[in-house]
Amino acid sequence: MTDPRTTGHVLEPTVFELSHPGRSGYRLPELDVPSADLTEVLGASNLRSAPPELPELSEPEVVRHFTRLAEMNFHIDRAIYPLGSCTMKYNPKINEEMAGLPGFAGVHPEAAAGECQGAISLIYNLGRMLAEISGMDEVSLQPPAGASGELAGMLMVRAYLADQGNPRSKVIVPDTAHGTNPASLTLAGYESVEIPSGPDGRIDVQALVAAVDEETAAFMITNPNTLGVFENRIADIAEIVHGIGGVLYLDGANLNASLGVVRPGDVGFDVMHFNLHKTFSTPHGGGGPGSGPVGVKSFLADYLPSPVVRRDERKARGLEFDFDYDRPKSIGKVHAVYGNFLVAVKAYAYILTLGPKGLRRVAENAVLNANYLQTKLEPFFELPYGGLCQHEFVLSAARQKKQGVTALDVAKRLLDYGIHSPTAYFPLVVKEALMIEPTETESRASLDRFVDVMRAIAEESASSPELVTGAPTGTPVSRLDESRAARELDVAWGKS
Ligand SMILES: *Cc1c(COP(=O)(O)O)cnc(C)c1O
Repeated sequence: MTDPRTTGHVLEPTVFELSHPGRSGYRLPELDVPSADLTEVLGASNLRSAPPELPELSEPEVVRHFTRLAEMNFHIDRAIYPLGSCTMKYNPKINEEMAGLPGFAGVHPEAAAGECQGAISLIYNLGRMLAEISGMDEVSLQPPAGASGELAGMLMVRAYLADQGNPRSKVIVPDTAHGTNPASLTLAGYESVEIPSGPDGRIDVQALVAAVDEETAAFMITNPNTLGVFENRIADIAEIVHGIGGVLYLDGANLNASLGVVRPGDVGFDVMHFNLHKTFSTPHGGGGPGSGPVGVKSFLADYLPSPVVRRDERKARGLEFDFDYDRPKSIGKVHAVYGNFLVAVKAYAYILTLGPKGLRRVAENAVLNANYLQTKLEPFFELPYGGLCQHEFVLSAARQKKQGVTALDVAKRLLDYGIHSPTAYFPLVVKEALMIEPTETESRASLDRFVDVMRAIAEESASSPELVTGAPTGTPVSRLDESRAARELDVAWGKS
């Protein structure tokens, strides 16, 4: 293993600091319409008293600035990004090309349905594809994130149960649940009831039986769960939850493990969300925006966010595709217009590129890659929940902790080797957790390099722990105060 890079970097100035009066990267075309006096057109009170303070730069200055910034950062176009639960797979560039087509990129959000039948048909078709993939009956693409899909799902559960006479008061989650699950159900007005997992990392069915009662509105499950373990008793669980009149929710963030292999709707789930920015290769992290469509069985369809897209092949109203706003039982809107449309275009391109067989191979290779890594890394880190994993697995840095090195230190040291950290300290049931998800888009060589680096860090932890606890040294900045930027927001710039 070669030494990680140790050269210092100069912090990049802001575009405002780089600005020089008079520089420009763009020229407006010649005016080919009559000129008008702005005061007359807009009214004097609507005009600025001084021009806006915009940075003035040439095109190469702008390009170089953003290229330097991109080089300072980690992204999926640079190296493996094994951030567990986030499915940081490579985002194929054909998706971007399709989303850039003028007919999609240029469509106005308020365009009348008759003027954008192609765009609406894409929304309709993607919804049908997700329904087919998941075994759900209807899908709405409106929610802009997984968490938003969860909230929409919980609001639909509440509306449905209220229609039955009682919205009920509690929703059950396992102790391995993602933090958004209790947050979403709380926002929807429910109380969170957490049940412990069994020693194998799966839902403890006896604990579930003890927790359910006539106040249970729903049970939210992630499958495979956040330990990368497949919940194999869904049929029993569905019987228990349905037996008391509750609804079974699937957090579909981990769908990458089961695409084309098992359909949630076939095994008892009533409502679920998808994360297009995970499973379906649309960008996420700082690059978003995201998309968290929500799918339901037909008994919940009346409650879907409004509007829904309808197809009428006979074109009774003159249009084949149209938005249906006449939804008296709908939970209402969860996002402006119809969700993040261009994200839907990218996911649609991805699904069409791969086809049914390709999607199944995604899941197969994601699981194969994770098991390969798990086997190769087990000698160097503790593996609290062993056995075959799904698309991800959770190591513990407990052994390294005895040498004075924490999971956070390992995460930081990886940056020195040019690799993004796994998810650390989640799920909460594992001490010093390092949650690793390679995804299907990594080659054998890329996985092997990750193994070499992790082994090198385990060896450093034993022989010279200060190398690990002092990391990173090769990044533009070293360890930052992780919460200060959020608590003391300061976005001021310019001549202060
Ligand atoms: C990512 C994730 C979520 C939340 O999805 P967002 O799109 O980030 O809001 C929920 N549950 C699990 C298991 C996740 O991995």
